[in-house]
Amino acid sequence: MNLHEYQARDILRRHGIPVPPGEVATTTDEARAIAARLGPGPVVVKAQVHAGGRGKAGGVKLAANPAEAAAHAAKILGMTIKGFTVRRVLVAPAADIASESYVGIIVDRTSQRPVLMVSAAGGIDIEEVAARTPEKIHRLAVDPRYGLLAHQALGLALKLHRDIAQARATADIMQRLYAAFYAVGASLAEINPLVTTRDGAVAALDAKIVIDDNELDRRPEIAALRDTSAEAPSEVAAREAGLTFIKLDGAVGCCVNGAGLAMATMDLVKYYGGAPANFLDIGGSSNPQKVVSALQIITADASVRAILFNIFGGITRCDDVATGIVQATRAFPLQVPLVIRLTGTNEELAVQILTQAGFPALTDMDEAVKQAVAQAKAA
Ligand code: GDP
Ligand code: MN
Repeated sequence: MNLHEYQARDILRRHGIPVPPGEVATTTDEARAIAARLGPGPVVVKAQVHAGGRGKAGGVKLAANPAEAAAHAAKILGMTIKGFTVRRVLVAPAADIASESYVGIIVDRTSQRPVLMVSAAGGIDIEEVAARTPEKIHRLAVDPRYGLLAHQALGLALKLHRDIAQARATADIMQRLYAAFYAVGASLAEINPLVTTRDGAVAALDAKIVIDDNELDRRPEIAALRDTSAEAPSEVAAREAGLTFIKLDGAVGCCVNGAGLAMATMDLVKYYGGAPANFLDIGGSSNPQKVVSALQIITADASVRAILFNIFGGITRCDDVATGIVQATRAFPLQVPLVIRLTGTNEELAVQILTQAGFPALTDMDEAVKQAVAQAKAA
C-alpha cells in the first residue's frame, strides 16, 4: 500500500525526523489560507499522488506569497501525473536548499535484509542514478537483530557531508528512518531530497513510504491511511472481493487459483509468445462469486484480448469455478474469447456444467495457454 507524501511526512515527524510543517488543501482557497497561516516566507505547493517525479511533471511549485500559492494550487489540483488525478496539495514552508541527497531503505530479497541506500546525487530519480552512475549509491545491509547501529549510520552519513555536525544530524535521521520503516511495516521508506539548508540545518523535504500489505492486519492505524480514491479501481475492486490481483500490461487475462500456479501460468503465457494482462489468484476457497468478481475485473480492462482460466482443483472445486463462469457470462456476455483449463477435484462435473453452457473445457495446461495466446493475437 502506498502512502501519500503528507502521510509519510507525519510518520517521519513522529519519529523525530526534522520535516517542515505543512497542511493539505483540496481547494485553492484552502491553499491560500494555509500559506497565509504558515507566515511571511515563501511556500511550496506539492501535488499529493502516488507517483514520483512530481517536480518534473509540474506538480511541485514554489510560491512567494499566499496569492501565488493559490494560483499554483489552481493549476496543480485536477492535473494528471502518471495517470493519477491530483485531488490534494500539500502546502509547506519552502526550504532554502544548499544541497540535496538521497536516503532510502528497501527490503532486499537477495540479502534478505533491509538495505539502506544513500547518495549525494539526490533530488532526481534514484533509478536514473542507479542506471547511469551506480558508483554514486552507497549501500548497507542492516542486520535486523541489531538494527542500524550508530557507527554504521555515521559512516554512511560521511559519504553525504564533509561537515561533521551535518553528518551527525543525517546519521541520526537514518537511524530514525530505520525505526520508522520497521514500526510501520514498510517495504520501502525514502527521503529524496534530504537537504542541507543555507543556515546549515538538515531536513527531509520529501517522503515516500510503501507498506507491505501483509503487515496491515496488525496495524489498523496504518491500514486506515489507505486512500482508495488514489488507487487503480481494478485493484480496489479485487481487494474488496478477496482476490489477489496485480494489473500488468499484456493482452491475456489470467484467472488462476493459487499464487504458484498463477506465476507458472504467466511464465507459460510468455513462453508461448504472449503477455499476461494481470496476475490474479482467486484463492483456495470454493466460491462461485469470486469467479464472477474476477471476470468483472478482468473484462473491465480494455487491453484484454483473451481470457485464460487455469484451475487446479484441490480445495477449490472445479464445479464451483465452472458455475461461477456460467453465472458471470450470463450476467454480462463476454466480448473476448475464453479458454478454460481445469483439472482436479470435481473435474467431470465441471466439464459437464461448461459443456452444457456451450464452453469447451481443456485439461492440458500447455494446450490451453497456446490457445489463449493465439486467440489474443487473432483478436
Ligand atoms: P518529486 O519530484 O515527486 O520527488 O517531489 P519532491 O518533493 O522531491 O520535489 C522535487 C524537487 O523540488 C526537489 O528535489 C527540490 O529540488 C524541489 N523542492 C521541493 N521542495 C522544495 C523547497 O521547499 N524549496 C526549494 N527551494 N525547492 C524545493
Ligand atoms: Mn522526491
